[in-house]
Amino acid sequence: AAAALENTITPPVKVEHTQLLIGGKFIDAASGKTFPTLDPRTGEVIAQVAEGDVADVNRAVLAARKAFDQGPWPRMTAYERSKILFRFADLIEKHNDEIAALESWDNGKPYEQSTKIEVPMVARVFRYYAGWADKIHGMTVPGDGPYQVQTLHEPIGVAGQIIPWNFPLLMLSWKLGPALACGNTIVLKTAEQTPLSALLVGKLLHEAGLPEGVVNIVSGFGATAGAAIASHMDIDKVAFTGSTDVGKIILELASKSNLKAVTLELGGKSPFIVCEDADVDQAVEVAHFALFFNQGQCCCAGSRTFVHESVYDEFVEKAKARAINRAVGDPFKSGIEQGPQVDSEQFKKILKYIKYGIESGATLQTGGEQLGSKGYYIQPTVFSDVKDDMLIATDEIFGPVQTILKFKDLDEVIARANNSRYGLASGVFTRNLNTANRLTRALRVGTVWVNCYDVLDPTIPFGGYKMSGIGREKGIYSLNNYLQVKAVVTALENPAW
Ligand code: ADP
Repeated sequence: AAAALENTITPPVKVEHTQLLIGGKFIDAASGKTFPTLDPRTGEVIAQVAEGDVADVNRAVLAARKAFDQGPWPRMTAYERSKILFRFADLIEKHNDEIAALESWDNGKPYEQSTKIEVPMVARVFRYYAGWADKIHGMTVPGDGPYQVQTLHEPIGVAGQIIPWNFPLLMLSWKLGPALACGNTIVLKTAEQTPLSALLVGKLLHEAGLPEGVVNIVSGFGATAGAAIASHMDIDKVAFTGSTDVGKIILELASKSNLKAVTLELGGKSPFIVCEDADVDQAVEVAHFALFFNQGQCCCAGSRTFVHESVYDEFVEKAKARAINRAVGDPFKSGIEQGPQVDSEQFKKILKYIKYGIESGATLQTGGEQLGSKGYYIQPTVFSDVKDDMLIATDEIFGPVQTILKFKDLDEVIARANNSRYGLASGVFTRNLNTANRLTRALRVGTVWVNCYDVLDPTIPFGGYKMSGIGREKGIYSLNNYLQVKAVVTALENPAW
């Protein structure tokens, strides 16, 4: 592999963990099989990783079940659980750069983004949930009679969690954080494109004092390991982040097996609405960020840029200039804004959509092709004159392709923005309070960012309307995903005291 990387910067980290993490130990897959994880800069192999399958998911569920039924985790004080999570967050900070290097190597995202934004955010998420651990409690309820009625908020049991490759560790933190704070045990499957960072972080979790079997990490593929989690009879809840198509499969497998509780965070085609009174320069910059951040690989990407006709021409010119200026290159080089797409499948899919855009008559303002000749780099691409029914305006492209549409008035843009099977997020750019209020109420989406975008700290709930998902992650709302409510009704002997 070293020779193949000769023209690329060597990541400042060694890959130390490639086995499955089950019952607190790193072990090989039962089958002995491995799969290669690839460097998106070159397509070359970074490492061979143990390939978890149905047998390994079964082993992981046994470990998680034992840890839940007999282990200390759900039984220790909430304060003790909280302290372990705080220690874990400290360890993430201590190993920040090493973790970030694995994340960028496996995924292709700029190292500066990983070191300065994402890994610190992961520590922040775990601190947020560490703080919740000892603040989760039930209620005393006024029943109709001589009874003392209370609710116990109990952990749901063994949680299955299936995560994607676009923000491997951040998605891990949104899933593990609330599940652990509530006292659950977990079987987590990473995406086959990005298995590495989770294994290092899994080691740190145990270093922080997590009892064995509480978090089990299985690397592997969706149709095998992923489906085994969704259909397992002894998993109490499954949380999934990924495509809408696979989300439907998860729900189906859950219902066909044991009716485990399901939360889904799926695709999007989020509108970004630039009104006539918006500060155009600022709107261009934020719209650019909303779409191009993370190589365009965000479920909440602002991927339909609606611009009012009065500022449309100016906006298109400036959006094009900004895209041309975007710094694309080796993610380990300083000052880089955009690295390669995660793999050849995504790369080809994005180029196919660019072709559809050109064929359907949208104006290609800039970009449109592969950048360089190796790896999965794509030129920052901007289309204008996009119409609502073009595939580039209806489908999730998941790449660095901005599509700009023109609108005349608010009623029209509300109807068009809502005319989507998705409803994940939206951006609104205006300085008019009434316009902002109107849009925030009318948009059928899980998040409205007004004069900002991608503000995603752990206190803020995140999730989708319509086919963008079921349930909310982050914030207080995510705790319900990992709790059962038990009503306890006790007859009173002397009701009149
Ligand atoms: P993408 O298309 O962006 O790769 P996917 O929805 O295919 O997104 O993948 C997200 C996660 O879901 C990954 O961990 C993947 O392995 C997993 N996955 C894919 N197919 C299935 C499936 N049939 N059952 C369970 N998990 C799956």
